[in-house]
Amino acid sequence: MSQRPEADLRARVDALLAAHDPATTERRAFLEARWDAGLAWVHFPEGLGGLGLPRGLQGVVDDRLEAAGAPDNDPRRIGIGLGMAAPTILALGTDEQRRRFLRPLWLGEEVWCQLFSEPGAGSDLAAVATRAVLDGDTWVVDGQKVWTSSAHLADHAILIARTDPDVPKHAGLTYFLLDMHDPGVEVRPLRQLTGEAEFNEVFLTGVRVPDDRRVGAVGEGWKVANATLMNERVSIGGGATPREAGMVGKVTEAWRAHPERRTPGTHQRLLELWVESEVLRMTGQRLRQKLAVGAPGPEGSAMKLTFARLAQELSGLEVELLGDDGLRYDDWTLRRPSYVDFTGRDAGYRYLRAKGNSIEGGTSEILRNIIAERVLGLPSEPRVDKDAAWKDLPR
Ligand SMILES: Cc1cc2nc3c(=O)[nH]c(=O)nc-3n(C[C@H](O)[C@H](O)[C@H](O)COP(=O)(O)OP(=O)(O)OC[C@H]3O[C@@H](n4cnc5c(N)ncnc54)[C@H](O)[C@@H]3O)c2cc1C
Repeated sequence: MSQRPEADLRARVDALLAAHDPATTERRAFLEARWDAGLAWVHFPEGLGGLGLPRGLQGVVDDRLEAAGAPDNDPRRIGIGLGMAAPTILALGTDEQRRRFLRPLWLGEEVWCQLFSEPGAGSDLAAVATRAVLDGDTWVVDGQKVWTSSAHLADHAILIARTDPDVPKHAGLTYFLLDMHDPGVEVRPLRQLTGEAEFNEVFLTGVRVPDDRRVGAVGEGWKVANATLMNERVSIGGGATPREAGMVGKVTEAWRAHPERRTPGTHQRLLELWVESEVLRMTGQRLRQKLAVGAPGPEGSAMKLTFARLAQELSGLEVELLGDDGLRYDDWTLRRPSYVDFTGRDAGYRYLRAKGNSIEGGTSEILRNIIAERVLGLPSEPRVDKDAAWKDLPR
């Protein structure tokens, strides 16, 4: 690329469109050509779907392709792969892992899920009890994971497991890429508040994971998992949206459709939430510009925290503005959706689904702790040794 990367990039997109007219090119062939041209994710290295350019230039490609009616890779269906697995594999995986996994991930041929949380390890993720024991050059994994979004669709998983139970909990974890089709992987649906089963329980019984599917060194799983979690927060709370899109767009629609339900109180709330949504959107733009020159930092936690609060307040206001209609729920059938859509279906669905926003990807309480300690530099919470506290109690 020359000194004018943006102009060069436009020329590259034009060349792609000229050689593969979206109107006549089959979707898969178009996506493959886009990958080969380095226009999949421009900040990835050449040969891996990118051009090694600043991440901020991705918009140049996306806008031009969208305007030309080009097909996309259905990012909602492969959100965990794009938002979490890919940046982790790129940053900390081996060359062989990058070559093997990134292309089918981006093309949407292989879906990923995240096997982190367990019944006894959510906020305290370092407490995971799933064990991985080395047998020759293969790890044998046994344990139970829970709340695994899209496990019913997934081909692969990012997994953290305990490889050494005799060291402090953060030091005994290792990070793996697990094949969800391997023997010993059992996925069971978990129905949630919305009636849907978008997440699952996953039972792992004697699952064999080759050592070359390990990401990072043995015992460094916590460090690798943190890279994933930082990216997860950005991918949940920091997506690019046009003004008045997403949840705030649904509320303004209801506001415009029902002038008879307006009150000074709802007017005031709408204005406040509209302004906050706009501030969040612009903060997202700033965050993405910062991402262009580095990895996500704890600021992603602030975005995700605010996103969750606004989603809950806005969806509550929407239900209120819709009056009786807001209380109707369209369909309670147990479904296993093929993607997660925070603003899909009807107002009732949005209201119920938004409740999960302050839990998934780190609860709001945990994010406040992260912001307090790592952004604001406040003293950390005293770590209470429960046994010592118990012993010190007057008897
Ligand atoms: C819709 C949805 C999708 C999800 N998808 C996935 C997925 O794909 N993969 C995956 O691995 N996980 C997934 N999760 C799990 C999610 O990451 C956990 O639910 C979350 O980390 C909280 O863990 P927990 O449920 O065990 O709650 P707990 O950790 O038990 O927390 C219970 C309550 O205690 C509070 N609390 C805990 N510790 C502290 C503390 N130190 N200070 C203050 N308050 C505290 C929490 O904020 C919370 O209110 C998903 C969850 C949801 C809701």
